Amino acid sequence: MKHLVLLGGGYGNMRILQRLLPDGVPNDIHIILIDRVPYHCLKTEYYALAAGTISDHHIRVPFPEHSQLTYQFGEVVSIDLDKQLVHLKDGNSIRYDELVIGLGCEDKYHGVPGAEAYTYSIQSIDKARAAYEALNNLPPKATVGIVGAGLSGVELASELAESRPDLHVKLFDRGERILPMFPKRLSDYVERWFVEHHVEIVRHSNVTKVEPDVLYNHDEPVPCDVIVWTAGIQPNRVVRELNVEKDKQGRVVLTKQHYIPGYENVYVVGDCASLPHSPSAQLAEAQAEQIVQVMQKRWNGEEPPSEFPPIKLKGILGSLGKKHGFGLVADRPLTGRVPRLLKSGVLWMYKYHNGY
Ligand SMILES: Cc1cc2nc3c(=O)[nH]c(=O)nc-3n(C[C@H](O)[C@H](O)[C@H](O)COP(=O)(O)OP(=O)(O)OC[C@H]3O[C@@H](n4cnc5c(N)ncnc54)[C@H](O)[C@@H]3O)c2cc1C
Repeated sequence: MKHLVLLGGGYGNMRILQRLLPDGVPNDIHIILIDRVPYHCLKTEYYALAAGTISDHHIRVPFPEHSQLTYQFGEVVSIDLDKQLVHLKDGNSIRYDELVIGLGCEDKYHGVPGAEAYTYSIQSIDKARAAYEALNNLPPKATVGIVGAGLSGVELASELAESRPDLHVKLFDRGERILPMFPKRLSDYVERWFVEHHVEIVRHSNVTKVEPDVLYNHDEPVPCDVIVWTAGIQPNRVVRELNVEKDKQGRVVLTKQHYIPGYENVYVVGDCASLPHSPSAQLAEAQAEQIVQVMQKRWNGEEPPSEFPPIKLKGILGSLGKKHGFGLVADRPLTGRVPRLLKSGVLWMYKYHNGY
């Protein structure tokens, strides 16, 4: 038996399982999926979990069952590419013949002192739960500072402002306008929504230090009862510590067939992979489709495609509370109820296709 080991049961590796099961795995291959969590987590909904507007159960999807698939639940601490071993925190090591690294990303704190220690995060389920507890136990009129007005910061700020209008939400961002990756029309729409919902946007901010219950904007103290960091991501620590070539964001540089140069049997999927788009669940899934093609060709003793057509993404959808949203679909800006409905529909379809 050969071992195909999947590290992380996130969007990338779930798509790989979806395509390989039920009949795409040769009889001599056994799959082992390793994750610290015993179910697939819908990370794109962590902002709502933290705001307290959906239940924990709502964003868990059971892992699939198959006779050629087993699970190992635990914390991956390192990978030895030369010995083909994955080391776990409990002291166990798992040998692989083929490996797919899909461990996702973590917060990037840009060296800001105190940021890691004194801010909450929505980058992993346990951290989003801790944010939920802190945010939802706040007394009326408390102040929440959210650092970073990208997609996740905007979704968290709006969800919180709508569900806890008694709180004072401050959204800190470096730029002149929030969501700079979107057309200005969309940023303006989101900013108007924030004005109507009493979210304070602090433009041109530069968070220089964080202490318990206070962040420093351009060295000026701003008291906050809870601070949430949404100001940057980087690949998982296990991947950062791999001694292989990385891009400027620390993501692993891959061949056109998505494996690590020099390690034909090690693929990297999703947020840890250097790809020509910003990390997203959609991108992880599209890349996973290509990885499956490479694997299956090789298992059949055929040459894998020498390259793939560029990955085309369908667009981005963001929510502003439960009723409004914004998005860019086929390069068309959308605002209002339609993108919000589309976003809910995408989530429903995702759960449906994963047997939920
Ligand atoms: C609030 C928010 C909103 C988002 N909205 C969108 C959106 O609307 N659309 C979109 O396309 N993308 C969105 N994203 C981005 C998207 O969630 C990620 O790009 C996607 O999850 C990446 O998939 P992945 O397979 O690389 O890793 P992930 O889905 O993050 O999965 C990684 C897995 O690895 C496990 N893991 C991590 N470290 C270890 C370890 N050391 N040991 C064991 N297991 C480990 C985790 O438990 C997890 O199951 C959003 C992200 C956030 C935070």
